[in-house]
Order: sequence, then structure tokens, then C-alpha cells
Amino acid sequence: PQAEAYAQLAHRLIRDRWEDRRARVRSFEERLGHERVRDELRRRAAAYLTDPLTGLGNRRLIEIKLPELLVESATTGRYLAVAFVDIDDFKAINDEISHLVGDDLLRELAQEMRAAVSSDDVVARFGGEEFVIVLPGRTSDQAYLEMEELRRRVERRVWRCLPAGRGITITVGLSESWSRASRTQMLATADEALLSAKRSGKNRVEVRRHPLADAESS
Ligand code: GH3
Ligand code: MG
Ligand code: MG
Repeated sequence: PQAEAYAQLAHRLIRDRWEDRRARVRSFEERLGHERVRDELRRRAAAYLTDPLTGLGNRRLIEIKLPELLVESATTGRYLAVAFVDIDDFKAINDEISHLVGDDLLRELAQEMRAAVSSDDVVARFGGEEFVIVLPGRTSDQAYLEMEELRRRVERRVWRCLPAGRGITITVGLSESWSRASRTQMLATADEALLSAKRSGKNRVEVRRHPLADAESS
């Protein structure tokens, strides 16, 4: 009978340890499952805001970040500038060289722009060969100097993807925040500046002030 009792005890011990282990494995798998779901959600959130060609933000990122930064700017009184950047005569690259080279050029320019501004600044592909750069903490005059420097760098740069001797230029339109500026007003004003700079002959940076910004300062 004693041997029988020992056998039962041993059996219980083994069973308990086994169940303990199974429970540990289950909780580990659950955690792993949660982590996978969390990573997947993170990955999808990043993809939702990223331009697949250039790796820059996309216009959805601008739609989210610009209003946030405008609220911050209105609360703290810190200026904010928005730049619309458009490649000059980009269609000719596609038509005379190829669309693949056109794609490479968009990627190379994306890197150039990302490198030209600080990591807090938002650089996004708005669509086609048009980009938006949000420059928190800059007046339009300060942003003008930075964008003029970028414009010059683009003009001088030797592009890996282009045939020797072939270059590109960009045109930039700038707007500056005022206390009740909205995302659409900021973008529309920068876009007007861009159009005006294109009409004046491209390869230049132009600033435009929104009528409401003028009303505020007078
Ligand atoms: P402008 O100086 O007035 O800006 O002239 P542009 O040729 O740059 O402008 P236009 O709007 O006439 O042409 C833009 C071209 O950009 C047309 C379109 O095929 C090309 N494009 C848009 N998205 C892409 C893309 O993802 N890859 C490539 N390779 N081309 C693109
Ligand atoms: Mg364009
Ligand atoms: Mg263009």
C-alpha cells in the first residue's frame, strides 16, 4: 500500500509539473501573439503614412501632421512655414530617358530633401513630382534661405541616375503661418507661390503671404 501511495504521489507530481509547463507555454504563446498583432498594427500604421516609391511621408501624413503643428504654432506663437516643391520639366526626364530613371530621380531627390532639413521637419511626397516640406519654428524669411540653399544644391548636384551633364532644377513656393491658419489655407498659399514662381521662369523660390496674415499684422 505504501508503494501504491508513492506511485500516486509521483503521478500527481509529474502531472502538476506537466500542467504547469503547459500553462507557461500557453502564456508565452499568448504574449507572442499579442506582440505579433502589435507589430503588425505598427507596420500597417507606418505603411499608411509612407509613400512607397520614395519612403518619405505621403499626403496623408501632411493631412495629420500639419494641423497638429498649426495648433502647436497657434498655442506657442512659434512660427511655421510650409514649402511646396515641384521638379521643373520632369516630364522630359520620363519622355527622353525613361520612367524608371524618373522613379530613381524621385528617390534620389527625396534623399536630398530629407538631408537638407532637420529630423523634426516633415518631408512628404504630395503626389507625382510634387513634395511638401513643413518647417516648424521658421518664419518664411528663414525658410526662404533654407529652400534657396536646397534649390542651389539641386541645381549643382550630379545625379547618380542621370546621364553625365544632365541635371534638374526645382521650383519652391512658401507660405508662413498666422494665428488662425488652416492646413488648406497654408497649402493653398504655398501652391499659389509655386504657380507664380513657375510663371516667372522656374528654378526659383517664392514666398506668398495669405491675405488674412496681412490683415492680422496691420
Ligand atoms: P513643370 O516644370 O511645369 O513642373 O513641368 P513638369 O514636366 O515637371 O510637370 P508636368 O505636370 O507636365 O509633368 C509631371 C510628370 O510627372 C508627368 C507624370 O508622368 C510624371 N510622374 C508623376 N508621378 C510619377 C512617378 O511616380 N514616376 C515617374 N517616373 N513619373 C511620374
Ligand atoms: Mg507638378
Ligand atoms: Mg513639375
